[in-house]
Amino acid sequence: MAVIELRKIKRVYRPGGKNGVEVYALRGLDFTAEAGEFIAVMGPSGSGKSTLMNILGCLDKPSGGTYLLDGIETSESDSGTFAMIRNSKIGFVFQSFNLLARTTALENTALPLFYSRKRINRKERAAAMLREVGLGERMDHLPSQLSGGQQQRVAIARAMVNDPAFILADEPTGNLDTATALEIMSLFQNLNRRGKTIIMVTHESELAAYTKRVITLRDGELVSDRPVHDRRDAAADLRNTNICTPQN
Ligand code: ADP
Repeated sequence: MAVIELRKIKRVYRPGGKNGVEVYALRGLDFTAEAGEFIAVMGPSGSGKSTLMNILGCLDKPSGGTYLLDGIETSESDSGTFAMIRNSKIGFVFQSFNLLARTTALENTALPLFYSRKRINRKERAAAMLREVGLGERMDHLPSQLSGGQQQRVAIARAMVNDPAFILADEPTGNLDTATALEIMSLFQNLNRRGKTIIMVTHESELAAYTKRVITLRDGELVSDRPVHDRRDAAADLRNTNICTPQN
């Protein structure tokens, strides 16, 4: 079964109010993603990437069309159900990490579980996720005591803690230097190898080269959908980057 099934998704904005000019942000998008995919969403500024992210993330509803998430029709759900689908089915990773400042890595990771009805030990589950992203030794650290890359790892642990249907990452390495960005891409590749489904919005084709499939938007339409044939290995590229770094 497809994890994501978008059919003829439209999103129209009326910035000038009801009688104002219509802006078509998405013009009837068809898109399907299966479990285990790692997809980059690309396109120039204004092409509809954020609008698509908001719809995929159940933060916004389309003006037309249908969105099946894990077999659930989201477009017709009431706001409570919509929020419940969002909290239980999607793990979010943002460019700016979005961690709570006065809260430890462990507590930040456990946060989504407060909305979960699953009967699990929150601390144990969050600790397991932090170990999975390589932060087993830093669970009690506050975000200010962690590097940018480590903070993004916490955000990724938090995104996985509910065992979502997919991880939705919005320019996840946009605030990180090249080596740290490669570390995060390597982590995503490892998680994907272990079966996690990941959708990542990015401006950079170098980053898209680490995914398995690239879709490109232009003017609210899907203009290209292609597999990545020569997929790069972020861990290998990271090793090469280190070798090339001038020693001083
Ligand atoms: P991208 O993320 O690729 O830059 P967006 O999804 O933000 O693209 O925008 C797609 C189109 O929709 C653009 O023309 C943009 O101006 C328009 N748009 C986006 N959000 C709004 C909004 N809230 N009100 C009016 N127009 C919007």
